[in-house]
Amino acid sequence: MRAQKYSKQREAVYSALRSVRTHPVASEVYDIVRTEIPDISLSTVYRNLSQLAESGKALTITDEKGVVHFDGYVHPHNHLFCKACQRVVDVDIPVAISVPDGCSHSVEGYSVLFSGVCSGCK
Ligand SMILES: [Zn+2]
Ligand SMILES: [Zn+2]
Repeated sequence: MRAQKYSKQREAVYSALRSVRTHPVASEVYDIVRTEIPDISLSTVYRNLSQLAESGKALTITDEKGVVHFDGYVHPHNHLFCKACQRVVDVDIPVAISVPDGCSHSVEGYSVLFSGVCSGCK
């Protein structure tokens, strides 16, 4: 059954993403998923990651080089892009932003990407 196959792939991609806190790129998620589903393709992994992001089950973080990282943990948190290892790490740096009264836009959230060097590379 095709539908069943699709949902199994979706589940495998989601659990692979949730198994790491390293904000992997699509090819790294692919490497994890392949250990479970050897015949899955990179484009299938990429499509499932995009759908997870669209449905709010994953975050995407585009780094300074334009590389897209995925995060399976969607609670509000901020990130740092490490210039040394090119990785995205979670940071516990509070950011206070207030939307001014009379703002014509409807702001529903924000994300902050710091740049610098991570603790592992420092
Ligand atoms: Zn680093
Ligand atoms: Zn994160």
